[in-house]
Amino acid sequence: MAKLPEFLKMDCYVGGAWVAAGSAERLDVVDPATGESLGSVPRMGASDTQAAIAAAQAAHEDWSGRTAGDRARVLNAWASAMRDHAEDLAQLMTLEQGKPLSEARVEVEYAASFFSWFAEEGRRLYGDIIPSHRQDARILVTRNSLGVVGGITPWNFPSAMVTRKAAPALAAGNCMVLKPAEATPLSALAIASLADMVGVPPGVFNVVTGGREDAPVIGKAMIDSPLVRKIGFTGSTAVGKQLMRDCAGDLTKVSLELGGNAAFIVFEDADFDAALEGVQICKFRNAGQTCIAANRILVQESIHDSFVAALTAKAEQIRVGHGLDAGVSQGPLIDTRGLEKVELLVADALEKGATIHTGGARHAAGGTYYQPTILTGVTSAMDISHQEVFGPVAAIGSFRDEAEAIAMANDTPYGLAGYFYSRDVGRIFRVADALKTGIVGVNTGLISTEVAPFGGVKESGIGREGSKYGIEDWTELKYICLAGLGAVA
Ligand code: ADP
Repeated sequence: MAKLPEFLKMDCYVGGAWVAAGSAERLDVVDPATGESLGSVPRMGASDTQAAIAAAQAAHEDWSGRTAGDRARVLNAWASAMRDHAEDLAQLMTLEQGKPLSEARVEVEYAASFFSWFAEEGRRLYGDIIPSHRQDARILVTRNSLGVVGGITPWNFPSAMVTRKAAPALAAGNCMVLKPAEATPLSALAIASLADMVGVPPGVFNVVTGGREDAPVIGKAMIDSPLVRKIGFTGSTAVGKQLMRDCAGDLTKVSLELGGNAAFIVFEDADFDAALEGVQICKFRNAGQTCIAANRILVQESIHDSFVAALTAKAEQIRVGHGLDAGVSQGPLIDTRGLEKVELLVADALEKGATIHTGGARHAAGGTYYQPTILTGVTSAMDISHQEVFGPVAAIGSFRDEAEAIAMANDTPYGLAGYFYSRDVGRIFRVADALKTGIVGVNTGLISTEVAPFGGVKESGIGREGSKYGIEDWTELKYICLAGLGAVA
């Protein structure tokens, strides 16, 4: 087994100290590829979470009172530390999450980029001076930190989802309590170790870990605390909705990045090879475990058969195995729950008339490995058209014309990402306008970058992360009416 980073500590990071749970209980963290234990982390409860909130609150006055330039220096140092230790962080991520090392390396750089980007955006949190409604008054508008904020993150991007929340939150002067996913707490703790190393002040960033049963307890302790003014969540739509309902109690702000059901449309005028490459990345990256994965691939009738044949050939070349092994491009699924969901969706599709071109079963490597799979004849009668697959299964349907493709793509309560390939400039504008999603990829299957706003419409969420917009969600406006200024005599 590869070595874990020397700087990794397997306790929670609260108020600048490494602490165990009050109950002393711990949770095992395993390599999903082998089931081997990598170590254990504390199972925090309500009072542990309250202690982390208190630590964040104690740090807030100093942190928010600093200049944005001071905070930028700290965040830039944190980004540099991530880059200096990128290989350690990437190996750790592969070990606890399963993704191929090449993908983990890309994610670590993506994660560090949020600190670099928001260090600078924090310096540009401009306010306004509004033309006044009174001669003797001036109207000023400032953007202020919220105070203590909570972050709840998923396991599919164990580092980037942490920094995509922590970086804008901290740059704007907030202090954060983060609860990483139960499957991947080590990447978050490694990021906390680096915070400690570069001198992020105690209490500014706290990490509270726990198991699946602890998540609602930790979440509730955050939401019920009057000190926590926002929850930033990435995860399932069901949990996101529950958190939003709970946040109504004392009107805690929420931003939610939830499930998707991305359509990937290939028009007959597309660059065939480019579309093939785009769909392969978009579908099979991270073994299909991304909320922006191509969940429904829609191919125009005239090119359907040749496209399926070419994609099947590509899928058969995917090397499945442990993410640390050279040449592997698909790791295991995160756990048995994920594996069984994929199996159920494939079984339902087959029962309702879909055809398998390759794969369609667990992989010979055992564990939670699943074969790269191509299914055709997928229709809206099948569950796979409506639920996130979160596995390496390309579900392909066909369409006659542009209007039908748009109608099929929008036939979902979700609206995170949508993709299409076309070389017709009129069609590019028409379809980009018509897709009811927060993100549209045209002639690309890769849209994630720190400089652009990431987020969904409809049941895919509320708010945006990344870009100049992503920091606004971590602030609130204050209007100052400066009156009694008199008039020039
Ligand atoms: P997934 O099914 O992909 O694991 P979840 O929405 O269940 O997605 O999990 C995303 C994150 O939300 C994880 O950190 C998980 O621990 C946390 N979580 C799950 N349920 C709750 C809850 N009721 N309250 C707060 N956090 C939760």
